[in-house]
Amino acid sequence: MKTSVIGYPRVGALRELKFASEKYFRGEIAAEELQATAKQLRAAHLNVQKQNGIDFIPCNDFSFYDTVLDAAVLFGAVPARYRALGLSPLDTYFAMARGYQGKEGDVKALAMKKWFNTNYHYMVPEIDDDTALTLAGSKPLDEFAEAKALGITAKPVICGAFTLLKLARYTGSKAAEDFAEQAAAVYGTLLEKLAAAGAEWVQFDEPALVRDLSDADKALFAALYRAILARKGGAKVLVQTYFGDVRDCYKELCGLPFDGIGLDFTEGRESFALVEENGFPKTKVLFAGLVNGKNIWKNHYTATVAAVQKLQKTGAEVVLSTSCSLLHVPYTLRNETKLAAEYTERFAFAEEKLQELKELKEILAAADPTACEAYKANAALFARERSGKNAVVQAKVAAIRPEDYTRLPAFEVREAIQKDRFKLPLLPTTTIGSFPQTADVKANRAAYKKGDITKEQYDAFNRKKIAECVALQEKIGLDVLVHGEFERNDMVEYFGECLSGFLFTEKAWVQSYGTRCVKPPIVWGDVSREKPMTVAWSVYAQSLTSKPMKGMLTGPVTILNWSFPREDITLRECALQIALAIREEVLDLEANGLAIIQIDEAALREKLPLRKSDWESDYLSWAIPAFRLVHSGVKAETQIHTHMCYSEFTDIIPAIDNMDADVITFEASRSDLLILDALKANNFRTEVGPGVYDIHSPRVPSVQEIKTALKKMLAKIPAEKLWVNPDCGLKTRGVEETVPSLEHLVEAAKELRNEDL
Ligand code: GLN
Ligand code: ZN
Repeated sequence: MKTSVIGYPRVGALRELKFASEKYFRGEIAAEELQATAKQLRAAHLNVQKQNGIDFIPCNDFSFYDTVLDAAVLFGAVPARYRALGLSPLDTYFAMARGYQGKEGDVKALAMKKWFNTNYHYMVPEIDDDTALTLAGSKPLDEFAEAKALGITAKPVICGAFTLLKLARYTGSKAAEDFAEQAAAVYGTLLEKLAAAGAEWVQFDEPALVRDLSDADKALFAALYRAILARKGGAKVLVQTYFGDVRDCYKELCGLPFDGIGLDFTEGRESFALVEENGFPKTKVLFAGLVNGKNIWKNHYTATVAAVQKLQKTGAEVVLSTSCSLLHVPYTLRNETKLAAEYTERFAFAEEKLQELKELKEILAAADPTACEAYKANAALFARERSGKNAVVQAKVAAIRPEDYTRLPAFEVREAIQKDRFKLPLLPTTTIGSFPQTADVKANRAAYKKGDITKEQYDAFNRKKIAECVALQEKIGLDVLVHGEFERNDMVEYFGECLSGFLFTEKAWVQSYGTRCVKPPIVWGDVSREKPMTVAWSVYAQSLTSKPMKGMLTGPVTILNWSFPREDITLRECALQIALAIREEVLDLEANGLAIIQIDEAALREKLPLRKSDWESDYLSWAIPAFRLVHSGVKAETQIHTHMCYSEFTDIIPAIDNMDADVITFEASRSDLLILDALKANNFRTEVGPGVYDIHSPRVPSVQEIKTALKKMLAKIPAEKLWVNPDCGLKTRGVEETVPSLEHLVEAAKELRNEDL
């Protein structure tokens, strides 16, 4: 039994790459120093896999920002506006990832989107009619050689041609199919070079195959790989899929001359049936994704051994693999010093998953797997009862009535009541919640956590920040204010810490995008609210101003989606538990005078099943009700806002409207406002604030630029329903860019109010 890893996390166990990159961005270190850090990390990651006896160790899974962007750049898909800056290759790459504003020019970053159903984000490659794909770089070859020098014949991993073409945005009149020949040619050239360099196996990642495929998609896939595989020389090619099953193209995959097919048996609910019912080609190797690359729970060896044996019965040669890249889990349990063994004995992060592969390999090689010590210990663990159950919470969920999911009166009635109450100007301005988390804010929190300052000192500092933030917003002239979220490290972690049922780690970071990492809480037990979580901060902030202050909460679906969920109860059950807890907070805020409450559902779109046929039954049927449950108890005059990141919800607009919020703000600036047509076509009734500028980049938008964006919006959205705001929270930004950006935003709204709309 051999073992394979699809990809390894790259920012470093202590986020070394993040810190080095940020120093580089600030001009504090040279490119060489950043490169040296990267090289050290790559070596460490290769070595730990080698120590665990992994047979197929990935290389080129490293990235300074994102591996889809790496592939686009490797194949020369660099839009002219970035090339025109005349920067070094590394800086051109970062300009595409982060935007650039400086001596050489002013360009926005490429669009960024969620990577399938994860909280990782990829950069959307941009292809125009003149794009000529060429093999423009040597990153996979270089990283293969680097591994070789360490004594490891690694398996180069490249974003596959089909996935790359399907994820790209086409800005001209051409489409993916028009680039098939070019793509096949450049991928073929790369494959030849990798084979010549001594690569024994090359892995092409094709997660796009687990979505619904049309006949045209299947034809494109087959055309690409017929051409690419003709050039594999002495190398073997693994087509790697993950995040679901390949029910639409299993037969095509088996029919093409791949040497290995990687299937996901954790998320792919039809994967087993596909193999059992159709058989598996004798000439190929089945890379069986059975060690979950997304959860933090220990693998259940009994189930995995049975699964492998079942697959082997079909006659397939099986390699035991992770289910996807380990990018989506934290590095190691070794840095977690505070969690009791009762918990950690059930966890496996990336390094521990390598150990699991190692143990499973030994178990599966044994004459009697069930006699192995590791097997027995694992079985005993899974047989033990776990803590965290709460009968009161379970009873509350069971007592939810159908009418608890409906807020009364209806939207239109509330809208009129609220317009009358707030008397906001046309095109009201607001922000999404957080203000820059400057060094002093982080230092205050760190000092409090370490016990260096008292709770009173900690609170006093945050109150000072809130007062400054409110004063700043009044000076800038915003209409609906926020307190700034200085008390929050993270929009999910903060609530998890205030709720019971969650566990926290110290160093369990996971990359979200670029240098941004998140530390998702772990849902361990039944969830409940022990005490008010945000009321004091919001009440204080409201006391400082006569303008409306938004109470600021994270919604149940996002809390769940950005945590590591339990696997012993359903997601629906867990979402309803969290919804009841947040509902108590909403009612508390209302009772304490907060007239507007924002319940962020930043991650609602993210876990939408990849196949349309599963959307309603597997997800929307509980996610939307969970949100509705949170706010159905408030009065008509209380305005409920929600916020979603990414406007990728064109296809679920009715479901979003059905959340029944009064106002929704969302990201739109990176995606050319395509969402607006869809809102119009669906008669969207909720008031909307499509973000007018991109907060993921440090550049400052001009007044004119914001006015232009707003005018485009006004062509599709009635002025009475349009709000003006940035596209997300400002916590990752600096004060330097935030203040002028917001000034420009307010100025743009003011100028437009005076125009004939
Ligand atoms: N209210 C949150 C903030 O402003 C929302 C963040 C998000 O959508 N990711 O930080
Ligand atoms: Zn957001």
